[in-house]
Amino acid sequence: MTVALVGAGPGDPELITVRGLARVRACEVLVYDRLVAGELVDAAPPEALRIAREGVSQDEVNSLLVAHGRKRRVVRLKGGDPFVFGRGGEEALALAEAGVPFELVPGVSSLAAVPESVHIPITHRGVSSSVTAFASHDVEALDAAALARVPGTLVAFMGGARVERLAQRLIEHGKPSSTPAAVVSRGTTEEEQVAVARLGAIGAVARDLPTPALVVIGDVVAVRAALAVAGQAAA
Ligand code: SAH
Repeated sequence: MTVALVGAGPGDPELITVRGLARVRACEVLVYDRLVAGELVDAAPPEALRIAREGVSQDEVNSLLVAHGRKRRVVRLKGGDPFVFGRGGEEALALAEAGVPFELVPGVSSLAAVPESVHIPITHRGVSSSVTAFASHDVEALDAAALARVPGTLVAFMGGARVERLAQRLIEHGKPSSTPAAVVSRGTTEEEQVAVARLGAIGAVARDLPTPALVVIGDVVAVRAALAVAGQAAA
């Protein structure tokens, strides 16, 4: 049979794609991540085997997908897009090596959707024409000098709790502490929270926001104020 690696979108269950939802509704086995909305897990047929990925090692997930994928229609449902910091590539490789057919169904990544949810465009004409996305679970390992120098918008994944240290390292390497910054927690969901401050102060205001959280650094954060006012007026 086949395994569909499906992006579930950033949190709001309505932000899965039409194709992704069709695959979920037709699956026999659903292997899903912790960040995936419960509504999407419920969208699988009642008789489908549901397997939560939490607490299962990546090797075991790969083996599960290969074993079930030989016999059944499997959906591997992942937060955001499967190929953006999602280990989708590793799972696809394991399937390819085992000779199990697979399909890739893109998802709406938090990369743009989460900032957008709080009215931050990750690029904006005349403000920023590039985006540098990076994983910041290990802040000390980052090339902070390069990140401090690169123009445009910075987007840090997996760095919610470490935002204070991230900001400190960027500032040490010459990023102005006055650079606008934002941390968006649980973006696009009903529990969404946003903290906005200058880079020098973002750690103090965002430190306790719950995960998952995305850090956005750059002048695009300042565009938010104008958009938020206009967006609310239209709503
Ligand atoms: N494949 C996913 C990213 C997986 S890595 C995607 O394309 O979006 C997980 C990280 O993504 C989290 O630590 C956080 O930094 C970010 N993230 C995912 N969903 C989020 C959300 N709803 N709100 C804020 N950040 C989110």
